[in-house]
Amino acid sequence: MKPDPAPERPLSREAIRELLGPIPPERVELLFAEARQVKRQTCGRKIFLRGIVELSNCCEKDCFYCGIRRSNPDVARYRMEEEEVIAAARASFRRGYRSILLQSGEEKTPQAVDRVERLTGRIKTETDGRMRIVLSLGEQEPETYRRWRAAGADLYLLRIETSSPRLYRSLHPRNHLHQRRLECLHTLRELGYQVGSGMLIGLPGQTPGDLADDALFLKEIDVDMIGMGPYIPHPRTPLARQAGKVSPAERLLRGLKMIAVCRILMPEVNIAATTALGTLDPAGRELGLAAGANVVMPNLTPPDYRREYNLYQGKPLEEDGILGLESLHRRIAAGGDELVLDEWGDSLHFRRRIRYSNGKLKRP
Ligand code: SF4
Repeated sequence: MKPDPAPERPLSREAIRELLGPIPPERVELLFAEARQVKRQTCGRKIFLRGIVELSNCCEKDCFYCGIRRSNPDVARYRMEEEEVIAAARASFRRGYRSILLQSGEEKTPQAVDRVERLTGRIKTETDGRMRIVLSLGEQEPETYRRWRAAGADLYLLRIETSSPRLYRSLHPRNHLHQRRLECLHTLRELGYQVGSGMLIGLPGQTPGDLADDALFLKEIDVDMIGMGPYIPHPRTPLARQAGKVSPAERLLRGLKMIAVCRILMPEVNIAATTALGTLDPAGRELGLAAGANVVMPNLTPPDYRREYNLYQGKPLEEDGILGLESLHRRIAAGGDELVLDEWGDSLHFRRRIRYSNGKLKRP
C-alpha cells in the first residue's frame, strides 16, 4: 500500500516573505522548532554524509560573487591528479562514506568531460557500485550530462543561485544566462539524475520576497536535495563592493531561516548544512541541523588544493573529512542527532518519487 507522504504545511508566498524578513527572536525560535519537528517526523535523527572532493579550481565563467572566477588573477589554478581523486574516494569509502561529491569550476573541454567520465566510472567500479556519486560541475551540454550519468553519476547539484532573472543578471556577465541554467536543471531530471539545487542567501539587492520565490521555485521544480548557503563576500570580486555592512550573525540568521522554511515547505527533501554556515559561526553547521538540515558535507580535498578553492572569504580550511569524523560524530550527537555511515542517504523525496511516480519533470 502506498504510504502517505509527510504532511506539508501550506505556506503562502506572503507568509514565507514575512518569515524571511525581520521578525522577533521568539518567532525565529518558533520557526526553527517547527522545522525541527518536521525533520524528526520525516528524516528521524539520521544525518547523512557526503564527502566533497574539489577536483579543480579552473573555471571558464566569471560570476561576480565567486572567488575562483576566471578573471581573478590571484588564484593558483590546479587540477587534481586522477589518482589523487581515486585515493580520496577509497579513503572515504573505507571510513564509511557512501556518497561523494565531485566539484569544480565549470570546464567543458573534451579533456575535462572525459576525465569526469573516467573518474565516475572508476569510483563506481572500485566501490562495487556502493558509492553514490554526486557531481557539481556547472552547466554542461545534454550529451555530457548523459555520458556522466551512463558512467554512474547519481545526483547532480546545480545551484540556481537565484530564481529571479533580474537578480541573476546583476550577479553575472551578460553571456551567463538564467534560462540556460533552468534548461540544464530540466535536462538533468529528464536524464534520471537526482537533482539538487539551491541559492545564495543575502545577496545585495535580494529581498525577502525574492527568497520566498526561491523557496517556492525549489518546490515547484521538485528538487531532491537543497544545497544553499549565506552569501559571504570575497574581496577580489566585483560584487563585494556592493555587499554593504551586514554582520556575520545577520548573514547566518538569514541562512538558517531559509533552511527552516524549506524544511517546512519540503519535508522529505535532503537539505545540506553547508560549509558557509560554519564560516559565519564555529557552530554554524550544527545550527543548520537544528534549523532543519539533515546532510553534512565534510571536505575530502587534500589540504594543498583545498587552500586554493576559495569561493568566499574565510572558508574553513582545517576541516578534514577523514581525520575530523570522530569529532563530527560527537558534535552531531550533542545536538540529539546521529551521523550515519554506510548509507547512501538518498532523500525520502527521491525514494518516493522513483517508487511511486513515473519520474516526470514538473516544469515551473
Ligand atoms: S560560481 Fe561556479 S561557475 Fe561561477 S565562477 Fe565560480 S566556480 Fe565558476
